[in-house]
Amino acid sequence: MAILLSTKANAMQAWRDALLALDPSLEIRLFPEAGDPADIEAAVVWTSHDMAELRRYPNLRLIVSMGAGVDHLLRPPGPPPGIPVARLVDQRLTTGMTEWVLLNVLRFHRQDPDYRAQQAARIWEELPAPETSARRIGILGLGELGSASARALLALGFPVMGWSRRPKAIPGVESFDGPAGLAAMLPRTDILVCLLPLTPDTRGIIDARGLGLLPRGAFLVNGARGGHVVQPDLLAALDAGQVAGAALDVFEPEPLPAEHPFWGHPKVVMTPHAASITIPASAAPQVVENLRRAREGRPLLNLVDFAAGY
Ligand code: NDP
Repeated sequence: MAILLSTKANAMQAWRDALLALDPSLEIRLFPEAGDPADIEAAVVWTSHDMAELRRYPNLRLIVSMGAGVDHLLRPPGPPPGIPVARLVDQRLTTGMTEWVLLNVLRFHRQDPDYRAQQAARIWEELPAPETSARRIGILGLGELGSASARALLALGFPVMGWSRRPKAIPGVESFDGPAGLAAMLPRTDILVCLLPLTPDTRGIIDARGLGLLPRGAFLVNGARGGHVVQPDLLAALDAGQVAGAALDVFEPEPLPAEHPFWGHPKVVMTPHAASITIPASAAPQVVENLRRAREGRPLLNLVDFAAGY
């Protein structure tokens, strides 16, 4: 039996090496060279893989996403019926996102856009020093990534609130849930951090209404998915001064077209969906473990809940 790997050409070899280092007996096929479709028992795939294609493999028993998000795998046609999908929960991935969130929260907290503008104009002037205790952070999504960012921000002294589907008990973090919880959290949020999965319920959640509930001059940090933000609404809120700045890693579509106004917007800082990148050597152990579990009929790790959409 074999594992089918499907990812960007430059990552294929690293994934193969990482899996073989853990278990040299694995038979690995690099898409599109799958060989006999009946050999494939697991598919380890990146966002671009066509889910309809996976219906070719009659003995497939496990699909693994090479990232934490699975929105791309669940959109129609979705995975072949009855085949479980696991996602990555990986310390390196979590650390990468925590770094990116801290970088951008601190960028806005420490008035970096203002200092950059002063530097461009050769202005030597100290701005009032903000205190973390006075800058309230609201995090959308308190899962693996959101809770790690919450803890890191708490350690710096920021008051941290978080919003999730079900109530959470994370020491020091004020927890909100459901639509009423969101409406209660936003007016108290100076920096809004989005670390939600993209689902039918969360698509477009950062729209004119939500942005309008933030205090005037709040900031947005989105490391989740472009589809969470209604991009024209964000542009309008930036231009009106309702939102003072946005750090965006994710967009719709990706890559963001060269003519999109975000590229040259003075209040937007962008990264190209690079907030946290999967490192095969770090992620491979859970893939091998899940394959063993699937073969032995044991419960799988990090299973996606199809009904919840993440
Ligand atoms: P988790 O599944 O661990 O956490 C998701 C969180 O979102 C949970 O707290 C969940 O609530 C909450 N949530 C889901 N649906 C809703 C809803 N309808 N209303 C309120 N809260 C909701 O995911 P991760 O933290 O591992 O990852 C989050 C996302 O980050 C990924 O789905 C992916 O899109 C993105 N990502 C982006 C990367 C990048 O480089 N830009 C890299 C990696 C991930 P509950 O706790 O109640 O289940």
